[in-house]
Amino acid sequence: MLFGALEAGGTKMVMAVGDEKGNILEQKSLPTLTPEETVPELLSYFSKKEICALGIGAFGPVDVNPQSKSFGHILDTPKLAWKNYNLYGAFQEKLGIPIGFDTDVNSSCLGEITFGQAGNLNSVVYLTIGTGIGAGIYVNGKLLHGMLHPEGGHIMITRHPEDSFEGCCPYHGGCLEGMAAGPAIEKRWGKRAAELEQESAVWELEAYYIAQALTNYILILSPEKIILGGGVMHQKQLFPLIREQVKKMLNGYINTKEISSLDQYIVPASLKDNQGILGCLQLAKLEYEQQVKYVQ
Ligand code: ADP
Ligand code: ZN
Repeated sequence: MLFGALEAGGTKMVMAVGDEKGNILEQKSLPTLTPEETVPELLSYFSKKEICALGIGAFGPVDVNPQSKSFGHILDTPKLAWKNYNLYGAFQEKLGIPIGFDTDVNSSCLGEITFGQAGNLNSVVYLTIGTGIGAGIYVNGKLLHGMLHPEGGHIMITRHPEDSFEGCCPYHGGCLEGMAAGPAIEKRWGKRAAELEQESAVWELEAYYIAQALTNYILILSPEKIILGGGVMHQKQLFPLIREQVKKMLNGYINTKEISSLDQYIVPASLKDNQGILGCLQLAKLEYEQQVKYVQ
C-alpha cells in the first residue's frame, strides 16, 4: 500500500511516495513560491501516483482543528501570499483521498516516534532549531493540539546577563526564537552560524537559551525524551553543553531515570533530516486507517 507525504515548508516543499513501513520510494522538492505557482505542481505530482492517502505537515501557524471552518488553512503568516490559504482544501478537492494534516514539527515528532528512536514512548518533545524554532509535542500517545497548536519556539526566556542582543522576533523581540534561532545567531555574532563552529562562546550562550526552553518543557510536559533537530543542531558540540545546563537549571529537583541519563534523554534527531517527510507518511497512514475504520 502506498502513501503520499508532503512536507510543506516556508522555503521548500518536499514530496514523497512511500509505504507503511517508512520506505521512501521516491522524493523530490520544489521551492515554496506562491500558492498559485507551487500548488498546481504538487497536485499534478500526487495525482499521478497510486496513493491511498496523503499526509501534510505544514509550516504555520495553521488550523489543525478538524471541527473548525478554517481547518487546514495557513493562518497569520509573514509569507503573505499564503495567508489564509486553504492548503488542505486544495488537496482534498483535487485528490479525493484521506488527508492527514498537522504542523511540520508535529510531523517530525511523529516521524521520530514511528520510525526513529522514540518508539514505544508516550510523551516526546521534538524541537527544531533552524530559521525559526518550533516544538512538536506528543503527549499520552497523541500529537498535542489545543485551541491552536503548541508554539513552543516563542516562549519567554531569561536573557544572559552578558548578552546585549535585543532579539529579532518581529512579535516578541527576545523570545526563544528571537534569541536562539539561526538568524539570531547570525545577527548577534555577525557571521552565519555554520561559520562560528570554533567559537565556544557562541555555543555556550546558545546552550544556555535552549536549556531554559528544555527545562520548561520538562517541568510542564514531563516528556520521556527530547529530540533536537534543525540546521543549528548540526553543531553537535551543543549537546553536552545543553545537557550540562539543563542539569544545572533543574538543580536536582527532578529525579527520574531519564534525568539521571541525560545522554539518552536529550538526543539528536535520528532520521538524517527525513523525520519530517517520514512523519507525513505516517500522518497519511493514520488518516487512512481512521477513515477505513469509520466506514466499516
Ligand atoms: P529551515 O528551518 O528553514 O527548515 P534549517 O533547519 O536547515 O532550515 O535551518 C536553517 C538555519 O540553520 C539557518 O539559519 C542556518 O544558519 C542554520 N544552519 C544550517 N546549517 C548549520 C550548521 N551546520 N551549523 C549551524 N547552523 C546551521
Ligand atoms: Zn517570538
